[in-house]
Amino acid sequence: MIIILQPGATDEQIDHVIQRVEDLGLKAHLSRGTFRTIVGVIGDEDKLRAEPLRAIPGVQEVVPVLPPYKLASRDAHPQPSIVNVSGVEIGGGSLAMIAGPCAVESAERMRTIASAVREAGANILRGGAFKPRTSPYAFQGMGEEGLQILHETGREYGMPVVTEVTDPRYVERVAELADMLQVGARNMQNYVLLTEVGRMRKPVLLKRGMSATVNELLMSAEYILSQGNGDVVLCERGVKGFDTLARNLFDVASVALVKGLSHLPIIVDPSHATGRPDLIGPCALAGIAAGADGVHVEVHDCPEEAKSDGAQALLPTQYAELAAQIRDLARLFGKHVSPLPGAAA
Ligand code: PEP
Ligand code: MN
Repeated sequence: MIIILQPGATDEQIDHVIQRVEDLGLKAHLSRGTFRTIVGVIGDEDKLRAEPLRAIPGVQEVVPVLPPYKLASRDAHPQPSIVNVSGVEIGGGSLAMIAGPCAVESAERMRTIASAVREAGANILRGGAFKPRTSPYAFQGMGEEGLQILHETGREYGMPVVTEVTDPRYVERVAELADMLQVGARNMQNYVLLTEVGRMRKPVLLKRGMSATVNELLMSAEYILSQGNGDVVLCERGVKGFDTLARNLFDVASVALVKGLSHLPIIVDPSHATGRPDLIGPCALAGIAAGADGVHVEVHDCPEEAKSDGAQALLPTQYAELAAQIRDLARLFGKHVSPLPGAAA
């Protein structure tokens, strides 16, 4: 950490800063320039992080050298992490192809969609049982019954399943039936929920909040990692923009940015990022080109009947076409779509 002192800082103030640093068992290295004096702190930065150093008279700015997300950072773990979702690898050159309806609507529909996305090349089946809707009057999901349907459909088609958990009280139950727990954008900073999923030994799909910075996303991942669950996959799903033509602003740069900052895999969700079927394909491919470790897409066999997010659903045929393009593009980058468990690579 570097402490920058104000131009007119007095010797007493500087001595006081040094004293505070040394009282914490750290070393202070004073450097007096012509215009500015700085104090470099050597030792465990975490000891200082909680201190209100900016409040000390004479201090102008405190600049941390290390990121506050110790476990999520590349410094701690230079090699990319590979997260294994019941046999499907995500990261390190293996891509996730997560697909399925926004919500689980019925067992029959789930089977129709699972069969289609599996055929197209998806390797993880999605479907929301607990839906965090903006309106309390909108369809809230089938709950426990939806969870069961998703679980059984996944088994039938040999696909791991991912579903959102919205409530800390249901985490254990969802972890029993799902292969991967999704923490949605609206809950990215629900720290009780993050702590609870961190206590599970199940991979977590952590979506970026719609107004969250990349640092905040990584700090949320840190909550999960700090509980001992290292299997976190991040997801860029768009942030609030000012243009109303698309649902959100797809922040493709965040993918490359996260790759530099963290060892955790990151996938893209062009469905929620754009809300428009015509933009999903281009953004999915842009995500892969930017280094994403997978693509998460909502697919429905009859979007006009969908109980949620029908307007952004791809038809199975459209998904199959996109999946083929993703495979081609992946090859160009020396990557591959992770095979289904039990399937030959
Ligand atoms: C979803 O995956 O259906 C969902 C609600 O996503 P998000 O949390 O990104 O809005
Ligand atoms: Mn959705």
